[in-house]
Amino acid sequence: MPHNKQPEPPSAGPQPQPQAPADAPPEPKPPVQVLYCEVCTFPPEYCEFGSSLTRCKEWLQEEHPDLFDKYYSDEALQAKVGTLSLEAQTKLEKDSMKKEAKAEAKADAAMKKKMSSHVTIKRIERNKRKYITAIHGLEAFDIDLKKAAKQFATKFATGSSVTKNAQGLDEIVVQGDVSDEVLEMIEGGVGVLKGVPEKNISVVEEKKKKGGE
Ligand SMILES: [Zn+2]
Repeated sequence: MPHNKQPEPPSAGPQPQPQAPADAPPEPKPPVQVLYCEVCTFPPEYCEFGSSLTRCKEWLQEEHPDLFDKYYSDEALQAKVGTLSLEAQTKLEKDSMKKEAKAEAKADAAMKKKMSSHVTIKRIERNKRKYITAIHGLEAFDIDLKKAAKQFATKFATGSSVTKNAQGLDEIVVQGDVSDEVLEMIEGGVGVLKGVPEKNISVVEEKKKKGGE
């Protein structure tokens, strides 16, 4: 084959120097406003929130001893601990005060509600000498109406149930005129009937309307 690749002759001219010398100049430093830790990438004052504080501190001590002193000198740590515990203390106090105030307000509201609530025992004449007794308002004193109704049924050996009155409110209706006994039971806090102040109970009478039979 005639084709013979000749090796190129060494060029006579001066060889161009390689573009980058082995020891490249340091990259130009960008205008640094904020210093970032090379270990955890946070600003040094936040290194403690990273997971590499020990290495962060080593780096800072090496590269920025002045900052290291600022953040980790005994005085700095002392000041910081003092501040932190004071902050923590203040926060704790505030939190517990808030909690207390909240609980107090809640108890206050519940108490006000109770005190303005009223239990009415109403004797209602259904027919000639036939009565029912309707008790309204016990639920405001955290009394379970069903349990109370059952207690009345047992006590008086008569019908007793929770029903809605004309206003759509729950009340207990007991067969028969047992209003005096019911009053006594509530005043005495018998069984589930606890927590109603005497002054919050009243007995009323609903007479049969004239003309009816
Ligand atoms: Zn760091």
